[in-house]
Amino acid sequence: MNIAIVGGGISGVSTAFYIKHYLPEANVTLFEKEDHLGGKMNTAKKEGFLIEEGSNGFLSNKPDTLELVKLSGCEDILLKSSDEARKRFIFDGSLEVLPESPGAFIKTPLLSFKGKLRVAYEIFAKPKKDDSDESLQEFGYRRVGKEMTDVFLDAMVAGIYASTPAKISAPAAFPLVVKLEKEYGSLFKGMMAKKKKEAGPGGVLMSFKGGVSSFVDRLSKALNINIVKNANIKALKKDGDGYKVLGDNLQMVFDRVVLCTPAFVSSELVRNFAPDIADRLNDIEYSPISIVGLGYDFLKHDLKGFGLLATTRAKQKVLGILWDSSIFLDRAPKGKKLLRAMIGGQRSPELALKSDEELIELAKNGVKNIMGIERVPDMIYVKRWEKGIPNYKVGHLENIEKIFEKIKEHKGLYLNSNAYRGIGLNDCVSNSKKCAKEVVKI
Ligand SMILES: Cc1cc2nc3c(=O)[nH]c(=O)nc-3n(C[C@H](O)[C@H](O)[C@H](O)COP(=O)(O)OP(=O)(O)OC[C@H]3O[C@@H](n4cnc5c(N)ncnc54)[C@H](O)[C@@H]3O)c2cc1C
Repeated sequence: MNIAIVGGGISGVSTAFYIKHYLPEANVTLFEKEDHLGGKMNTAKKEGFLIEEGSNGFLSNKPDTLELVKLSGCEDILLKSSDEARKRFIFDGSLEVLPESPGAFIKTPLLSFKGKLRVAYEIFAKPKKDDSDESLQEFGYRRVGKEMTDVFLDAMVAGIYASTPAKISAPAAFPLVVKLEKEYGSLFKGMMAKKKKEAGPGGVLMSFKGGVSSFVDRLSKALNINIVKNANIKALKKDGDGYKVLGDNLQMVFDRVVLCTPAFVSSELVRNFAPDIADRLNDIEYSPISIVGLGYDFLKHDLKGFGLLATTRAKQKVLGILWDSSIFLDRAPKGKKLLRAMIGGQRSPELALKSDEELIELAKNGVKNIMGIERVPDMIYVKRWEKGIPNYKVGHLENIEKIFEKIKEHKGLYLNSNAYRGIGLNDCVSNSKKCAKEVVKI
């Protein structure tokens, strides 16, 4: 069986891995536009610093990425985040520790007494009666109140999706949380019931020695497939029972094709034979986001923690600042420190696309205003993602349901990327495994 995979991010690479795992004799070709694999999973190296351009790791409480690491023989490069980096901070006018126990929650200055009472009332708040979609803001206001939503959910959704509660669908972005309300009538009741059933340690952030790219490199070497880099695929055409893959000076026919490209790219690839699917794919929105890495030869700040997220109402220009060299110790040369500031997202998309100089100023101001660091960084690295993270807006689930229903009319064609059912690395790997099973029909 001749199979093409278009797009060599983690979705494409892990789909290729699982196809070969289930069907070793499959003849797989992976096309990637850039000169390297990894997509949003890419580590830049500068002056001894390792700067993650996108994801910096995955949580160990979901089995998916860990399973892939084991199956591909990459356990020796696994890297656990430092215990000193467990504390997370929220900036809402002042920098406060994110409370992680009921006792700490009662004491936190992040919410007023009234705000905390409203959170406690969650257990009595009536559950939603129908299955209609709603924004995270509507969901949050109903369940835990305005204050909790504007502080905690706002910071959390900026950190995960670079979005805001008003602009993202609760069931699409946080399906497990919404399921708790549906099954137990209340999030607290659901969490307590789950805690009883699933007693055990929570997840720890994991990554790889040398940065996430070292995993992509090792995984791709273990693949035993044909990898074509610098291949900007422009269109697909139906060819008998299969598909012709077309790029610059490239025309190849395959029995099956898996599109692991961003939705707006997949849209253009299928447009000539499936305009209805193309339109729907184009409706999937993306948030721009920029990353500014700031390296310091010396810093007085002890950086004990994971980093911080700022709330919208704190009116800062950065979404958050990750203390990367505290999370994974090899991200900076010995004695040096690395911070990564995130700018833009749905909160302020225009900022993400500013010039390098302006982004650097915004990052330096963020570090100064929030953390009191005035020292000029010794190393600076900027990465701009014009269309960085899919934003699962209200209506997303209905849209993708229709897309996946329609795609069945095109035998041998599959869609798999972070645009549909989860953006985390664990989601991407889990969906790739499912997709690979479908491709080889196991
Ligand atoms: C700033 C940032 C921080 C993040 N942090 C985390 C984190 O800490 N933890 C986590 O779990 N997730 C994180 N994520 C999300 C996660 O990194 C992504 O969801 C995931 O890497 C997406 O993988 P993918 O393969 O689906 O898509 P992509 O990585 O976007 O891969 C798509 C690939 O297709 C290629 N391509 C595009 N067009 C064509 C074409 N015409 N022909 C051929 N190839 C093409 C691209 O070059 C790319 O390699 C983060 C994302 C960003 C942007």
